[in-house]
Amino acid sequence: MSGASAGGTPRPTATYAEFTALDPWHASLRALARDVALRALAVGRRIDDTSDWIRFPYYHHVFDDERTAFARQLDYLAGFGEFISIDDAVALLESGGAIDGRYFCISFDDGLKSCLTGALPILAERGIAAAFYVVTAMIGATLAPDDAAARRDFGFRGRRTSLEFLTWDDCRTMARKGMIIGSHCRAHVRLADLGAGTAMAELSESKAAIEREVGAECGHFCPPYGIPEKDFFLERDGALARETGYRSLATGWRGAMRQGDDPFRLRRDHLIAGWGKHQLRYFLSLP
Ligand SMILES: [Zn+2]
Repeated sequence: MSGASAGGTPRPTATYAEFTALDPWHASLRALARDVALRALAVGRRIDDTSDWIRFPYYHHVFDDERTAFARQLDYLAGFGEFISIDDAVALLESGGAIDGRYFCISFDDGLKSCLTGALPILAERGIAAAFYVVTAMIGATLAPDDAAARRDFGFRGRRTSLEFLTWDDCRTMARKGMIIGSHCRAHVRLADLGAGTAMAELSESKAAIEREVGAECGHFCPPYGIPEKDFFLERDGALARETGYRSLATGWRGAMRQGDDPFRLRRDHLIAGWGKHQLRYFLSLP
């Protein structure tokens, strides 16, 4: 349950248990069925069955009760490949040269507070430079449990959660620790709903705000919702991103990136910190 302080102000959601507590019963049943299926599908699959790729696992949150599991996932992945920053991953793809070995590039979408409180210490301890795609209009905001925007803009269906977002100070702290701040638009919008001019403003205003506030180049863009041709347009928005001065565009398409692949069509694998090894084995062995 999301708690409330004596004054009635909602306390931001701190745990994954709270985050999912009010999910409808069919959501947990579906998750269970999916887990059973993945357990079977993962049999005999190995992350190191293939090589010469960069994979981009991405998350949204590392709530308080997900920290141990997140650290365990990173340590598991470290057994199969090397962690590189998005700057290095994109440089490798831009070079067109051979990708020898297996690399992981971690990123986070939405810029939730738990990126700082949950993810940052675990990443920094391991020397991993992750990318954080923030929504600049949400910086410093807290979405109340009854906030329609939480459901409308972030798709938290039925979840009466109170979500806290990073502040600019948090972003600066993260950048000082080697993390990279990317753009997830000015507002959490579906670019496919916007004309080219409005879409361009989302890309350029968010980039400018990040560069002004963080004092570092914002070279990486990730359109909200992530599904090409449904949520955004690969051709149009890729061209807008190039024109605005970004070096990459990250999608929600799964799979590995290999030599010669376009950094404006980055495939990424969505993960939940609490997932077991069989789920990682399944998703991170897809072609
Ligand atoms: Zn998002």
